[in-house]
Amino acid sequence: MVVQITDMEETLLGTSRGKATLTEKVDCIVIGAGVVGLAIARALAMAGREVIILEAETTYGTHTSTRNSGCIHAGINYTPGSLKSQLALRGRDLLYQYCPDHGVSHEMTGKFVVAVDDADIPELHALKEKANKNGLQEIYIADHAEIREKEPNLAFAGALYSPLSGLIEAHELMTAYLGDAEQHGAVLAVNAPVKSGRVIEDGIELVVGGDHETTIRCALCVNSAGHSAQRVAAVIIGVPDSTIPEQYLTRGCYFVIHGRRPFNRMVYPLPKDHKVSVHVCPDLSGLNRFGPDVEIVDSVDYTLNPDRAEFFYKAVRRFLPDLKDGELQPGYTGVRPKLSLEQATANDFVIHGKKDHGVDGLINLFGIESPGLTSSMAIGEYVKALAGMN
Ligand SMILES: Cc1cc2nc3c(=O)[nH]c(=O)nc-3n(C[C@H](O)[C@H](O)[C@H](O)COP(=O)(O)OP(=O)(O)OC[C@H]3O[C@@H](n4cnc5c(N)ncnc54)[C@H](O)[C@@H]3O)c2cc1C
Repeated sequence: MVVQITDMEETLLGTSRGKATLTEKVDCIVIGAGVVGLAIARALAMAGREVIILEAETTYGTHTSTRNSGCIHAGINYTPGSLKSQLALRGRDLLYQYCPDHGVSHEMTGKFVVAVDDADIPELHALKEKANKNGLQEIYIADHAEIREKEPNLAFAGALYSPLSGLIEAHELMTAYLGDAEQHGAVLAVNAPVKSGRVIEDGIELVVGGDHETTIRCALCVNSAGHSAQRVAAVIIGVPDSTIPEQYLTRGCYFVIHGRRPFNRMVYPLPKDHKVSVHVCPDLSGLNRFGPDVEIVDSVDYTLNPDRAEFFYKAVRRFLPDLKDGELQPGYTGVRPKLSLEQATANDFVIHGKKDHGVDGLINLFGIESPGLTSSMAIGEYVKALAGMN
């Protein structure tokens, strides 16, 4: 059930589980209805908790969760032992189990990681070793005949093949998570931006904006506000500032090709210095999307600068030499909520509970960039466990 914040009191009173009014305390509040917030809400609701999801926008999933590459990552290039590594592998497996029974379009297409120059081939072997250390054994150096047969348009010196990589329709996934959560009594309130809050004796009190400002209390508050997670944590009085990490934003643009489909699956040039280069990621209809690049920005601004095309032509022609002038058309952008502009090791997911910030009944999620979509169900499990639920 999706309600406006102004209707929420009535709605709660009308639901079988809705004993709460807005002046009373509810069990759990999840702030943010992106794919991660919805996965968490689903996990908490299915564990028998009363859950309200507060979303600032008019509907769910309008930010990073629908402005990404839509890849199910197999778990190749993360720092072994990191949260990203653990949650991506677990999340990948959970997604492949979940999607077929929940009407979520997806496909285990496989993915090539490509060395374009002979000099880079040793790096393919190093990356394979890293993937193995991450727990991903299903990855191999492909022979040239297999690469040519699978991707005839690809220019390569060598390639790794990851059969478990795939594609997913993120909006369908969010709808399925929300459906599960609602079936277990959760309520999504839209137009419900969290403005401020404070730590109280037995939980958290939040002031929610929208047409009418409302105060609501909860025993457990999960801050899954994406780009705004730091801002939300900072306005809750009682959360130590020292536990709120700095945030950096980088925009990623996508360009697309209409009229032909040079690639059938994901093709990633070798990552350099822990950074992913512009890659191709077809959507489930076959549309070839190239991107994302990396542009440091100081606000969440989704404007796509068409001048970026020059960089894209150069990057894409490395592995698609017959790309014609004028073929790349502006697509869309997404903005990564990062905790550092440095290499991957400084950019793990940060999920803080009481032992990190000293506050009972609060879980903060920071820096949930890629592979947050892949990891979403595993993050749901992780947060549930952190909240002491089985
Ligand atoms: C360019 C790009 C490509 C990516 N590609 C992939 C990929 O291929 N595979 C993959 O696994 N991951 C990928 N990711 C990462 C993935 O998209 C994210 O990790 C994931 O979508 C994060 O979800 P979220 O719910 O944390 O954030 P969001 O989707 O941003 O949701 C946060 C929600 O919180 C709401 N909110 C904010 N402030 C408030 C407030 N004060 N009160 C109430 N609500 C509030 C927002 O409106 C929003 O709806 C990519 C990311 C980017 C940027």
